[in-house]
Amino acid sequence: MIIFKPEIAPSDICRVCPYVRIVLSYVEAYAIDNDINDGVVTVTSIMSDRDSGIHEDGRAVDISIKGDWTSFHCNRLKHQLNKKFGAEWGTKPSELDVPPRVLVYDRTLADGSKDHLDHLHLQVRRNIIYSFD
Ligand SMILES: [Zn+2]
Repeated sequence: MIIFKPEIAPSDICRVCPYVRIVLSYVEAYAIDNDINDGVVTVTSIMSDRDSGIHEDGRAVDISIKGDWTSFHCNRLKHQLNKKFGAEWGTKPSELDVPPRVLVYDRTLADGSKDHLDHLHLQVRRNIIYSFD
């Protein structure tokens, strides 16, 4: 099940790029199959986000990692989703020398060290061409 943080408009999920919803469905399936938070996924940000134009563009959704979302699960899901969808649907900041990603969990700090976001950021690139292939 997918629920929404009270401060956000749930109907915004209908306005985002459909490929974001596909990635979100995989997150939900992972949560159900691994009994994370009883299979309940909490969306914390859809169209609006303080620090990211990609949300306003309807190409990103944030997920809460409170509760059973251990770093093990966050990292495993990150690897699985980026392997499955990253090259085809993912995106990345032009200044970062990393492969395109649909799930972002790591961030690089000003001093060059790495840590983790306090949420899972799902994102897709612009102009994905629908294909059965
Ligand atoms: Zn985000």
